Amino acid sequence: VSLNESPDWTARLRALDDARRQYDCDAFLVSAPANLRYLTGFAGSAGLLVATAGEAVLLIDGRYHTSVREQQAVGRLAAVTPQLVEGRYDAALADALTPRAVRRVAFEAAHVSVATFEVWRHRLPAVDWRATERVVERSREVKDRVEIDILRRAGLALAGVASRLRELVRAGQRERDVARAIEDRLDAAGFSQPAFPTIVASGPNSALPHARPGDRQLRQGDLVVLDFGGVLDGYCVDLTRVAAVGQVDTRAKELFDAVSAAQSAALAVIRHGVAASAVDQAARDELGRRGLGQAFVHATGHGLGLELHEAPRIARSEHEPPEPLLAGMVCTIEPGAYLPGLAGARLEDDVLVTTTGCEVLTPAPRDLLVV
Ligand code: ZN
Ligand code: ZN
Repeated sequence: VSLNESPDWTARLRALDDARRQYDCDAFLVSAPANLRYLTGFAGSAGLLVATAGEAVLLIDGRYHTSVREQQAVGRLAAVTPQLVEGRYDAALADALTPRAVRRVAFEAAHVSVATFEVWRHRLPAVDWRATERVVERSREVKDRVEIDILRRAGLALAGVASRLRELVRAGQRERDVARAIEDRLDAAGFSQPAFPTIVASGPNSALPHARPGDRQLRQGDLVVLDFGGVLDGYCVDLTRVAAVGQVDTRAKELFDAVSAAQSAALAVIRHGVAASAVDQAARDELGRRGLGQAFVHATGHGLGLELHEAPRIARSEHEPPEPLLAGMVCTIEPGAYLPGLAGARLEDDVLVTTTGCEVLTPAPRDLLVV
């Protein structure tokens, strides 16, 4: 696989066209930025794709017009017709739909505000609007060859940063200094940006799953949760390791060992066809056996891709029967245990689901990093 191979935009747009026909619509209107990027390569923060039977029109405003033309010239954009939005997007949408005699339009209900929808209805009173959910998101769940290649490279780069955490974590440093040092390393490793604000949570702060790094200095006896990720070619990877500053007490060590066992248990059961909820349960059972069931306060993992949190959720099932994992899905496995006011631990790796198990995309040492 060459480094800069383009995705198969045609196949992705064909799947959208299949959905358009299933909804019995003349046009499918895509507005979620991550879905626009997946379908066309356009990476702006706003835009609208109007896909009809024979044509895909990409409405973009002046901020993106030049870059879209350039991208298209070098084959980094799907075969779409860019159309410049000079005023309001809703006016441009009406201008695009009206001459094409579009009557029935499928739209992404989860990504359109009530206010925007009201404006569309007002501008296009003759259009019959059909709400859809998770159409493009479902396509995005199973990664294709080009995406897996990017995620493999991103996972390796992130593991490289994780393998050298020892150089960055020392007693006396403030959490925010460690976080900044990690983000410098992400930058040096080739990531375009952190995937989220880096978490460095020390001592009692480690018991807060989403702690923000602050002025607290790392001190002897602390557990330190280090959770960080990066974006590479638009794709997110995400990893957590735990450091111990000097000697930690027995309870902290047991906490880490329990989380480590829970992660191993989840990794052992994950493969194509297994319910995501069964993977979650494997981690939960392991912590439960050690009296830490109540200390595991979040899901075991989340899908990764153009967004940091996407389907599938590795959690208790919201569906009956529970949804199975499929080969080609990429997700995190990140059990944690938190004892409020005392300490917490979480271990997180990214995996590609395969027919026989999983491929760990973030191969960095997982043991407690004693500094
Ligand atoms: Zn994370
Ligand atoms: Zn995560």
